Amino acid sequence: MKRAIFPGSFDPITLGHYDIISRSVSLFDEVIVAIGINAEKKYMFSLEERMTFIEDAFKHEPKIKVTSYNGLTVDYCKEVNAEFILRGLRNPADFEFEKAIAHTNRDLAPIETVFLLTAASTSYISSSIVRDVIRNNGDYTKLVPNSVKLK
Ligand code: ADP
Repeated sequence: MKRAIFPGSFDPITLGHYDIISRSVSLFDEVIVAIGINAEKKYMFSLEERMTFIEDAFKHEPKIKVTSYNGLTVDYCKEVNAEFILRGLRNPADFEFEKAIAHTNRDLAPIETVFLLTAASTSYISSSIVRDVIRNNGDYTKLVPNSVKLK
């Protein structure tokens, strides 16, 4: 069974994440979208909201599971028996950042990081831009799946 985890904050999930997750389904038997819990970070959406947004967006896709975890991503991979970490790449800055994390993870555990290049149409989208648009009452709906709703 080829199982990957796609770790991130997903605050909130964007069409960029959606694209990467959708395309990963043809590569793996199961993809766990895993929300990392960082006690030091302030989030716009609660953990429950972030999980629900992702679950609702992938209701139709049985290969995709949504969970949360504390601690190191490689430890969580061992816990759920995942041999792969999935990450998305948008630009050279992502590459440099992701390279350091992937090398560190490889030092820590025999886990392969698999990178998918973002679709051109979603390459400019980030959760932080979406949060800025929301804070300033802009139309965020073109940047996120329909499941992302404000209270
Ligand atoms: P983090 O808090 O770890 O940055 P994110 O939820 O923002 O988590 O991102 C998780 C993963 O999704 C990362 O691999 C990131 O590069 C990727 N990603 C974010 N936005 C996009 C996008 N627009 N297109 C493709 N990948 C993306």
